[in-house]
Amino acid sequence: MSSSSKQKRPHSHLLHALTMVFLSLAFLLPVRPAAAVEWSTLFTAQDVRDHLSTVQGRQEALEFCHKMGITKVYLESFRDGYQAQEAALKAARDFFRQAGLKVSGCVATTGIGKPSTGWQIAVCYTHRQNQERLESIFRFTAALFDEIMIDDFFFTDCECSECAAAKGALSWQQYREKLMLQMGRERVVGPAHTVNPKVKVILKFPQWYDVFQQRGYVPDQETAIFDSIWVGTELRDPASQEWGNKQQYEGYFIYRWLTDIDGSKTGGGWFDPYGTTPSLYLDQPLTTILAGAPEVFLFHYGMLTSKEYQPQADGLAARRLQYEKLATFVSGWTGIPTYKPVSSDGGDEVFIFDEIGMLGIPETPTARFPDGARAVILTTQALGDIELVPKLAHLLAAGGTAFITQPLAHRLNGDPRLPAPSPLDLEKDQYVKTLEVGGGKIVVFSDALPHLTRVDAQNRVEQLTPGFRDALETLRRQIGDFTATSLDAPPRVAVYPLGGHVAVVNYTELSVACRLTGLGGMVHRLTQLYALEGAKLASDGATLRLPPHSAIVVE
Ligand SMILES: [Zn+2]
Repeated sequence: MSSSSKQKRPHSHLLHALTMVFLSLAFLLPVRPAAAVEWSTLFTAQDVRDHLSTVQGRQEALEFCHKMGITKVYLESFRDGYQAQEAALKAARDFFRQAGLKVSGCVATTGIGKPSTGWQIAVCYTHRQNQERLESIFRFTAALFDEIMIDDFFFTDCECSECAAAKGALSWQQYREKLMLQMGRERVVGPAHTVNPKVKVILKFPQWYDVFQQRGYVPDQETAIFDSIWVGTELRDPASQEWGNKQQYEGYFIYRWLTDIDGSKTGGGWFDPYGTTPSLYLDQPLTTILAGAPEVFLFHYGMLTSKEYQPQADGLAARRLQYEKLATFVSGWTGIPTYKPVSSDGGDEVFIFDEIGMLGIPETPTARFPDGARAVILTTQALGDIELVPKLAHLLAAGGTAFITQPLAHRLNGDPRLPAPSPLDLEKDQYVKTLEVGGGKIVVFSDALPHLTRVDAQNRVEQLTPGFRDALETLRRQIGDFTATSLDAPPRVAVYPLGGHVAVVNYTELSVACRLTGLGGMVHRLTQLYALEGAKLASDGATLRLPPHSAIVVE
């Protein structure tokens, strides 16, 4: 360290102290203004053709926007091999602008030409003609709009002979990442900016954040290349095997994780009605807003006005003002730092983060190891960081606590850099174990606990055995040393600490009564700030009563 940088240290301490004071004050200020959320929708290229090509069609579309509180629309120029007509796009663009709405463009990179050998909806980006077609679509769109959204099909899993030859000695993951970064720079953002220097190109990421590396999504480098990013917060019926039995916390985890990479680039959240019932559909605006999205993008006009999904749209319209009010309580997200390095592989623990969140364990997703944190949650994904063990040893030496899943504990077992008094592995039928290691604490927990959040085909969770109940309480007591949680909530009740407030959401199909703990011991008397769908704080000032799919905010 040079002497000049030594001299700077007291200043940086002072600056740090001032920043802390400022941050503490920020919690006392009113968080976000009313109507902190903007609602938007998409007219797909086919919607533009079928619904926006006549005066009457445009008028009906505008009425839908008014009903839904939508103030921004995206007009898509390309999808599934179809390019919308320039005249129709211009007429619709000018119509919505005149009606006072914001108007942007959109592209879905599907059906461009030679398809991927894997997921047919994706294309082969090694194929030269596909590259040229991709570029021409973005040149066309950039001439019409100052902002272009890209739907989440900008990936590839192609293994055709052209791709195999081009990849050479690289692994498929390395080749796909390199290829998609090159496409983003040279065939999308570059040409779009050349045609229209004002244009902002937004890359929307799919919700499947834990397998991005398999199909060429590189969130940190793509966030740097694109003007802005968007987050897929789609949630499905968790009982649906077809949709992958996804957990509602996924929408929160991905939004906060991508925001951790570069929050200045993160735009809104995006969801659709597929794989939902009307009540499950509403978990999406709720979770998207809790995650902090300033804009909620409703995919898409043609679907939301169809017979099949109109009940979803009507349900949202009826509650829109309540969601807008909820947004005013949302800021200051906290929880236990949960480490998912970019491009890391989850192995058997893929999407385990979503289940941990559904146990009422608040997570602060991060793509960087949280140096200096008092506690961290680590899973198999953390091994994506080759420096994991020294960083963990450092955190423990500073007196920190690491919550580690059993599969990761097994991999860390016997590592001389972590002088544990006994094996880290859990014993048979053991679900939680705490060990003093290297000056700190390691709490190993079995994946059987997060798996308690899984539902059967009727959306029911398994009845907790006394063993599971005890283990869950033991784990949550230790979590409660660092953040708000509940000792008695059943699985599928999520806790979201927000600055001085806490939001609690019941994602089960049954009514739930539970209490909060954490933030320095038992909370004695809470105040209800906000409630959705009949949730309420009981007169004892402690018990939260939550009907299915309801939410409450207390302080
Ligand atoms: Zn190919």
